[in-house]
Amino acid sequence: STMMITKLLLAFAFCRLIATVGLNMGPTAELPRLGIDGLLSVDPSDVQTASVDFGLMTRNPPLAVLHPASADDVARLIRAEAAAAEEEGEYGGFTVSARGHGHSINGQTQTGNGVVIEMNGGGRRHRRGGERSSPPQPVVSEKEKFVDVWGGELWIDVLKSTLGYGLAPRSWTDYLYLSVGGTLSNGGISGQAFNHGPQISNVHELDVVTGNGEIMKCSNQENPDLFHAVLGGLGQFGIITRARILLEPAPQRVRWIRVLYSNFEAFTRDQEWLISLHAKPENEKFDYVEGFVIVDESLINNWRSSFFSPANPVKISSFNNKPDGGVLYCLEITKNYHESASPTVDQEVEALLKELDYIPESVFTTDLAYVDFLDRVHKAELKLRSKGLWDVPHPWLNLFVPKSRIADFDRGIFKGILGNNTSGPILIYPMNKHKWDPRSSAVVPEDDVFYLVALLRSALDNGEPTQSLEYLSDQNHQILAFCAKEGIKVKQYLPHYTTEREWAEHFGEKWPEFQQRKMKFDPRHILATGQRIFRPFT
Ligand code: FAD
Repeated sequence: STMMITKLLLAFAFCRLIATVGLNMGPTAELPRLGIDGLLSVDPSDVQTASVDFGLMTRNPPLAVLHPASADDVARLIRAEAAAAEEEGEYGGFTVSARGHGHSINGQTQTGNGVVIEMNGGGRRHRRGGERSSPPQPVVSEKEKFVDVWGGELWIDVLKSTLGYGLAPRSWTDYLYLSVGGTLSNGGISGQAFNHGPQISNVHELDVVTGNGEIMKCSNQENPDLFHAVLGGLGQFGIITRARILLEPAPQRVRWIRVLYSNFEAFTRDQEWLISLHAKPENEKFDYVEGFVIVDESLINNWRSSFFSPANPVKISSFNNKPDGGVLYCLEITKNYHESASPTVDQEVEALLKELDYIPESVFTTDLAYVDFLDRVHKAELKLRSKGLWDVPHPWLNLFVPKSRIADFDRGIFKGILGNNTSGPILIYPMNKHKWDPRSSAVVPEDDVFYLVALLRSALDNGEPTQSLEYLSDQNHQILAFCAKEGIKVKQYLPHYTTEREWAEHFGEKWPEFQQRKMKFDPRHILATGQRIFRPFT
């Protein structure tokens, strides 16, 4: 049967890998021939972890998992691949995929005919009796305000390492349990992006192990082609082993404000005005601008309980302006400050709020430590985990929508296709395109301002048809088909395609360069094959 043949082929491929790199057959074994300081493992629990991702929609077990201790380990594995390919001709190699924290949703970190490099924690977790070395710890330069971190470091740990110096990165994601290499391979965005640009605009320098097995330092000045290729490059050109991230003095506290709109036009006008203030002095703009759509009345209750105190309830029925087409929009803004400056914060916030056109009785304010604000989604994660609602399939859809068509998107999708069922939060916030370096591999729409619309959906197997994976996946297709039909030129963020034609269309004018860079830095197409952009020659 096909199944048997596949199994035999896999077994054959695995034996070839073992023969090539000299792996012992124990559950966790060393690589004497390669001199790897970390660990190459075929331990079932390692293989199981590397077979799945946050999406829980695809599964693909690798032949083995490498826990590297250094960039050298990563390079040794890739050079072993090259040696195998050379020895055995076209079909002699194997694929290599870096896995940051596996928070992709469509199998982007998986690879069946190869090795997953578990970047997060690397050899640290597997250190025995101090024999093995481990990936380098973060190193902060207080004077030059940057931190050098291992590519698999989680952002939460980057933050912890810099706070001791009173410093912190400037540009974030909403959730901090993501790896530096993983977000830099995409973009890394949150409510600070309008002001500081995405995370890929806040990196000075990288160490990258290319698909040729070379360890290369790169920056704007040194090997700029590789530097720009890797940023937003979906793991196609090399494995980021070190990133030098820009820091700023860490704020101490955050004033966090939410206001509601029933009118979409007023909502987007205010969001666009707020991000147009990016060039103003710090005290004349907010530090973070996001927002979300409320199409489902019941979400209001969740939303109230997670953010508002019982003394501060949201009573929609009391609003004079009734929701427009049943949909409400929530603007979310923050102001960072130092404790010593708290009186001026009140004034700054008040002056900005005065200019906005939200439902007057809908201002909700809270005040918290900077770290607690940055780590806010982790609290929601713990809550969902306790209810068994975290490890479920996630058919997420993230789109960049040009500002000129956002009203059409609202009419057709928020007030149309979605009905009153979202199965998760819907984020919406604008960004300034000039904060994205056009030389990077990241792809954004044509307008100077574009919105992120993130449908962060969870599928449930509870017999309710509108919450099933099938239903939600179908709705995602309908949304994309609607945009195509109406000529709304959206770009997928965290893109997922399966054909070359679709990828060529996604990259648009960047496609020829993307292909050239692939030829230069990963000519055998062994890296991050789970993205399904290039077919491996192995
Ligand atoms: P992985 O899923 O492990 O890897 C992603 C891709 O990058 C893979 O192709 C992998 O091969 C490659 N890769 C991983 N590490 C490296 C490396 N060191 N060098 C080269 N390539 C590498 N994104 C945002 O921008 N903003 C958000 O606010 C945000 N919030 C999120 C919240 C949650 C709960 C989740 C699940 C995701 C969120 N994301 C957000 C998306 C997230 O940034 C991406 O899914 C990212 O890829 C996850 O990082 P990771 O470390 O888990 O990467």
